[in-house]
Amino acid sequence: MDIDALPHLKFYARRGYGAKMTSQHQNTPNRDQIRRAPKVLLHDHLDGGLRPGTIVELARQTGYAHLPEADPEKLGIWFREAADSGSLERYLETFSHTVGVMQTREALVRVAAECAEDLAGDGVVYAEVRYAPEQHLAGGLALEEVVEAVNEGFREGERRARANGHRIRVGALLTAMRHAARALEIAELANRYRDLGVVGFDIAGAEAGYPPTRHLDAFEYLKRENNHFTIHAGEAFGLPSIWQALQWCGADRLGHGVRIIDDIQVLEDGSVELGRLASYVRDKRIPLELCPSSNLQTGAAASYADHPIGLLRRLHFRATVNTDNRLMSGTSMSREFEHLVEAFGYTLDDLQWFSVNAMKSAFIPFDERLAMINDVIKPGYAELKSEWLFRQAASSSGFAASED
Ligand SMILES: [Zn+2]
Repeated sequence: MDIDALPHLKFYARRGYGAKMTSQHQNTPNRDQIRRAPKVLLHDHLDGGLRPGTIVELARQTGYAHLPEADPEKLGIWFREAADSGSLERYLETFSHTVGVMQTREALVRVAAECAEDLAGDGVVYAEVRYAPEQHLAGGLALEEVVEAVNEGFREGERRARANGHRIRVGALLTAMRHAARALEIAELANRYRDLGVVGFDIAGAEAGYPPTRHLDAFEYLKRENNHFTIHAGEAFGLPSIWQALQWCGADRLGHGVRIIDDIQVLEDGSVELGRLASYVRDKRIPLELCPSSNLQTGAAASYADHPIGLLRRLHFRATVNTDNRLMSGTSMSREFEHLVEAFGYTLDDLQWFSVNAMKSAFIPFDERLAMINDVIKPGYAELKSEWLFRQAASSSGFAASED
């Protein structure tokens, strides 16, 4: 397929898009605008987003004695370096510490509340945050108690955000671990707490050796219940994992899915050919929960500029931008957007496109998604896009931007 042969794709291709009506300078968001832009987050792990100071305090309160650093600042750096090290062992160790301090009701409420608060402070208006209830039972909690504690925390965080002038809605995704055998039980739990704070189900953990088809019973159960789920697939492992997640398991979304790029060929003349699977993903508007910084750490991409998100956005896949593990990657939604603006020259229109894509792909009901798009996201970006008008008027006599 030749992009130039499709006028609408050509229109959206980076070069020239927005250049006529508004100059690059007017539509390129600065850091403050990115933070204020309404953002939507679909892929964020609760145990990957703790504040370092909270980890230190919870470790003290719960008698957890295995932290590598006692000083919050040093601990934060340790997490990023361990995740950056390229060693799977060290990467997994980071989660043993966060999960290690999340074994009491109070700890779970606190972590969830701070998660909602931090996301709201970063301008996220809607988030689906995931965690694996089975990993929080060591202190004697039952699965239901874990879910209720996290729900309570999210509601508390939403309240605190509101008190600080931010608005956010947070839904939970319950994750089952690929290597374990509790997927059906967790799927049933997700179904029981549906409409009670839980919006869907996910499966996570090492891809190689643990294909999602091992948990078919859980996915088939959720489908019979008309419930929603996403599957971590196509992060490190390639196309077979994506294919299984979609065509055997029936996933609504792909957690990462970035390896779909292996089924897309960019030819020397710049034209692009999509394989059957990549075509299916694009034709069916399957949402890709892309996590650029996380991919850089695991080696799935060499740099932001090399990240497949550039091509996937250009080809109009249902691409969304996500944080994955904010603590381990030292990131936030704003930072992900900043990296992409820098790498690809994205404008406010691009950021709005990603945010609308994500909201369309959320697991809450259609009318609520639509209201978020029309009443929150679009007005938010319209406001930001109009700011240059007033900056110009206020700052200078030489209004050079008009083009007759
Ligand atoms: Zn993930």
